[in-house]
Amino acid sequence: MSERYDVVIVGGRCAGSALATLLAGRGLRVLVLEQAKALRNTLSSHVLQTDAVTFLDRVGLTEKIRSTGAPFMNRVDSRVDDFHAVIDYPLEPGDVGGAVAVRRDVLDPLLADGAVAAGARFRLGAEVTGIVRDAGGRVGGVRVRCGRTERTVQASLVVGADGRRSTVAALCGARRYNVTDNERWYYYTYFENARWEQPTFVFHRWGDRHVFGGPADNGRYLVGVSPEHHERAHFRADLRASVRAHVAGCAPIAQALTEARQVDKVYGITGFQGYFREPAGPGWVLIGDAGHFKDPAVGRGIADAFAQAQQVAAIVGDLLPEHGAERLDRALAAWGRSRDRRYADFYWMAADIGCAGAIPAVYPALLGVLARQGRIEEYLRLYSHRRTPTQLMHPGDVGAAILAMLRAPGSRAAGASELTSTLRREARRRYRSLRPAFAPATDVGEVA
Ligand SMILES: Cc1cc2nc3c(=O)[nH]c(=O)nc-3n(C[C@H](O)[C@H](O)[C@H](O)COP(=O)(O)OP(=O)(O)OC[C@H]3O[C@@H](n4cnc5c(N)ncnc54)[C@H](O)[C@@H]3O)c2cc1C
Repeated sequence: MSERYDVVIVGGRCAGSALATLLAGRGLRVLVLEQAKALRNTLSSHVLQTDAVTFLDRVGLTEKIRSTGAPFMNRVDSRVDDFHAVIDYPLEPGDVGGAVAVRRDVLDPLLADGAVAAGARFRLGAEVTGIVRDAGGRVGGVRVRCGRTERTVQASLVVGADGRRSTVAALCGARRYNVTDNERWYYYTYFENARWEQPTFVFHRWGDRHVFGGPADNGRYLVGVSPEHHERAHFRADLRASVRAHVAGCAPIAQALTEARQVDKVYGITGFQGYFREPAGPGWVLIGDAGHFKDPAVGRGIADAFAQAQQVAAIVGDLLPEHGAERLDRALAAWGRSRDRRYADFYWMAADIGCAGAIPAVYPALLGVLARQGRIEEYLRLYSHRRTPTQLMHPGDVGAAILAMLRAPGSRAAGASELTSTLRREARRRYRSLRPAFAPATDVGEVA
């Protein structure tokens, strides 16, 4: 038995449902294949950055998001070592809120329903196990197992939106490159009865600590902490107490939780890698985590999945109906190159924020410069990808930040040495962005 669609999307969460919504909305015949039998929870906190909130509005989900009880957070309480400020999110025309936190077992079904409402077919319990190629070797469909039946679905394009352990990537032979190992673990949990006045996202990164949190859907308050490898035994001995101990150093969250009760277990991830994957080939393309994953410290994965869905939808929606496969493949290959250029800076920034120990001193120094110039909200535009780190750090500001580092009392030698290692690291990264270091073809990423 065989069916035929314009586009088959493997994976039905942030990236897959978003793309399905956009393509079906343009009249394409779209099938989403999701191996899970229901879109229950998945291991991910869920701070949605401004551009992600705007995307949800674009696809008509704002009222549904509001009805989950998740308040739009329009300011950030941000601490980065000795820099501390409460900053309003800079909103642009069309934005509906600064950030919002909706748990994945609430958010993902809303996205899937949106795809179905737009006209996509959405099949749960459908695991993709193989790809099929045409006589010329171009990918032309997938093999999918639903219960005991296995069938072929043909499509003009196969999209891998199937996460970090992407089956589509493995089947198409997409290699990973510029792989980084995590230096911290991430744990998060939920409280009820937290007290807060204005909905505020709290993000504190000081010394070797990282604590974040804010009000989420259905009266929950999300709290995340990020211990380092050396804390392993101690932290895991009593997860609840360990979370509380980390939070104790973050005044706004500690205060919010004074009378709060923990209502869920502590979720955590102890091993992951950041990477880029070869993004596209004849008949296939990868979006979301399937193609690129970065340290979750920056809370960008969902927004990036939405952004990539929009970029790919524009290309496929324009080219697929009227132009040949060859032109589509060329355009998607070009998109893949632009993806790498677009995300390289942000990738390394995420690694810096998620690094063991203190964040590189140039960051708080630079934030101090921006604050003194009355431009601190520019910093938040990094999180919505409306500024790149390179745009933010123009040479004059970096120079001022370096001077501030070198002038800090008693730290001239330490400042100079850190500066040297920051410059060396930066040079290495720029080189890697131009000449990627590939992992072996047999390495498909995390396996457990
Ligand atoms: C600890 C942690 C915290 C995070 N916190 C945040 C945060 O606060 N904000 C943020 O924006 N991002 C966060 N992220 C990142 C975010 O979780 C991801 O970027 C996001 O889930 C990517 O969505 P996706 O649709 O690409 O992939 P996924 O959400 O992984 O979805 C992939 C889907 O594909 C399906 N699938 C896989 N293989 C097959 C197959 N063979 N056949 C059919 N279906 C298949 C899977 O079942 C799954 O449902 C965090 C990540 C982690 C690990």
